[in-house]
Amino acid sequence: MDAKEVRKLFPILNQEVNGKPLVYLDSAATSQKPLPVIEALDKYYREYNSNVHRGVHTLGTKATDAYEGAREKVRKFINAKSTEEVIFTRGTTTAINTVAASYGRANLREGDEIVITYMEHHSNIIPWQQVAKHTGATLKYIPLQEDGSISLEEVEKTVTSNTKIVSVAQVSNVLGAINPIKEIAKIAHKNGAIMVVDGAQSAPHMKIDVQDLDCDFFAFSGHKMCGPTGIGVLYGKKALLEKMEPVEFGGEMIDFVGLYESTWKELPWKFEGGTPIIAGAIGLGAAIDFLEQIGLNNIAAHEHKLAQYALEQMSAIEGLTIYGPKERAGLVTFNIDGVHPHDVATVLDAEGIAVRAGHHCAQPLMKWLNVSATARASLYLYNTEEDIDKLVAALKKTKEYFGHVF
Ligand SMILES: *Cc1c(COP(=O)(O)O)cnc(C)c1O
Repeated sequence: MDAKEVRKLFPILNQEVNGKPLVYLDSAATSQKPLPVIEALDKYYREYNSNVHRGVHTLGTKATDAYEGAREKVRKFINAKSTEEVIFTRGTTTAINTVAASYGRANLREGDEIVITYMEHHSNIIPWQQVAKHTGATLKYIPLQEDGSISLEEVEKTVTSNTKIVSVAQVSNVLGAINPIKEIAKIAHKNGAIMVVDGAQSAPHMKIDVQDLDCDFFAFSGHKMCGPTGIGVLYGKKALLEKMEPVEFGGEMIDFVGLYESTWKELPWKFEGGTPIIAGAIGLGAAIDFLEQIGLNNIAAHEHKLAQYALEQMSAIEGLTIYGPKERAGLVTFNIDGVHPHDVATVLDAEGIAVRAGHHCAQPLMKWLNVSATARASLYLYNTEEDIDKLVAALKKTKEYFGHVF
């Protein structure tokens, strides 16, 4: 793939910020949107906006076909067995909360354990804290290796026959670590636990096969993979989803409503209460088409090369600390000695470079790293070596600037 050509399909990237050409290095927070996605949304609202699953009129049928067509695209994208296993949600957060509120609260009790890691995003921590609080179960953390990676020995030690749920990010949004989900799932299953995967940082960047991973649930967000905000996916194994109760009740998800009792629609609709995220799903379908046309393996290879280049260039800057293992996904989290990451991000912004600074929704990990915040440059298919060169030049400038101040 040619990133310079791909880039042309993202109109937002063709602008100046603070008088400099925009260098967007914050795709781990949200990705930019290519023309085919913008156009799919535009077409839906201009030509066939309608509610789904109810009307018999032509626009309603078109909207329903597009919405359910997007579900089939998602199914293929993650290699789920059937569209019954693909639930549209608002994002990763809602997807994990659904598993926690439905499966977690119904199946856990005192003495049971939930196992996560120190590198989880808040949305893969707090829902489990809540389950623990409501059921009396215990929340346990898999410790990290010195470089921020997970060792399977530690997983073996932490997961026991009391463990009912293991929930781990496939890729860390801070460390860039790529976790051995398939092997962790084996350990979970051996102990009778289910495996939940936070795929927010993996689904946009690598080929996902939920059957090969043999995970029980897999969550991801549309907006981090070139799709619109407000749409995400919860994949779940049919046998588990069938036994689970919905967490949202109302229109769209019912079969029959009596005065005091109601019954639910079959999968996946029983988990999609209310008017669904129709435009979002259609936009996500367009994003999947776009990513598949370029090829997930090509995207992964491009980002890998770029991340290694960034690591090499940034490691050469004295006084700059990089967090996370060498073998990583396309992001670099760092700090400059004596400079607060917010100041780093502010100086970079003046150069037209967008990076994230803060705790990255991973406060337990910040504690583990012994820092209050970090800066993070994250890459996607539209980034180039030139972007990295500009970042490195600006980082050197930042160091000099603050070197004079202090
Ligand atoms: C972004 C992110 C989330 C949360 O995704 P939302 O789209 O905000 O729901 C969860 N986990 C990881 C690893 C993330 O990067």
